[in-house]
Amino acid sequence: MDKDFGVTVAKSAGLCPGVKGAIEKVLELEASGKKPIYTLGPLIHNKQVTDMLALKHITSVDTPAQATDKSGVLVIRAHGITPAFRAEVMQSGMEVVDATCPLVKHAHDVISKYASEGYATVIVGDSGHAEVLGLLGSTQGKGVVVSGPEEAQKLPHFDKVNVVSQTTQKESVFLETAEIIKAKSAVCQVSNTICHPTKLRQSETMERAKNADLVIVVGGKHSANTTRLAVLCRELAPQVLHIETEAELTAQQVLAPKQIFITAGASTPNWVINQVAAWVRQTRRDHHNLSEK
Ligand code: SF4
Repeated sequence: MDKDFGVTVAKSAGLCPGVKGAIEKVLELEASGKKPIYTLGPLIHNKQVTDMLALKHITSVDTPAQATDKSGVLVIRAHGITPAFRAEVMQSGMEVVDATCPLVKHAHDVISKYASEGYATVIVGDSGHAEVLGLLGSTQGKGVVVSGPEEAQKLPHFDKVNVVSQTTQKESVFLETAEIIKAKSAVCQVSNTICHPTKLRQSETMERAKNADLVIVVGGKHSANTTRLAVLCRELAPQVLHIETEAELTAQQVLAPKQIFITAGASTPNWVINQVAAWVRQTRRDHHNLSEK
């Protein structure tokens, strides 16, 4: 058996630059003595990180009005917010730190540009997701969200439409959906706003998962991008486990597969992934040593 005991960890696994940057900003604020810190919605869909932030008295609120201490700092998270909500936040009188990911900002800019030219917007994404709700706010009231090709079939004809994607969308779903909308529109602009880190993660996963006997996807059960990654892996590998920590694994699950591929969503911190990989390797090493005796 090789030194890694048949266990490969995705190079692209772990916090994406947008979420990492937002967490670093908040931790810097906390370290500089700014208190209290309120994030507008949970900073990240990962229980291990939100527990750590709660210990530092960094709490999540839905609106500026919910912040009990107005001398505190309000942080806009990586997912971004609608322009209307941004205006409300700016008028709150509190100090505001904007941690919107630049790649989400880019998607807002693309939507605003075409909306100003009279284009309707179709966003291919999860209708209830915070980022998508924010993007919808930039469509100047002419936006609709579809989850994929099936819902796109039901859309009406458009004179001018701009098709954009949630930044973590599966690329094949986006492209297929855009083709359907194109066929029923006079003018169709296809704006692929899937972010580069997501594209990298998807292509590495597709390459590696198909050669694995077991894929372990690490990340929050409520994280949309982690769940989407697990769905993608299920199309490629014979067995896929979506877990939050190694505590959910049994030795039996990780001993039989020859090749194990470990990947993770954009909201999973590297230390959580490393703990899972270390546990899986150690379990396989122990078993190997025992059977050698
Ligand atoms: S998934 Fe992409 S767009 Fe979204 S926060 Fe991360 S880097 Fe930014």
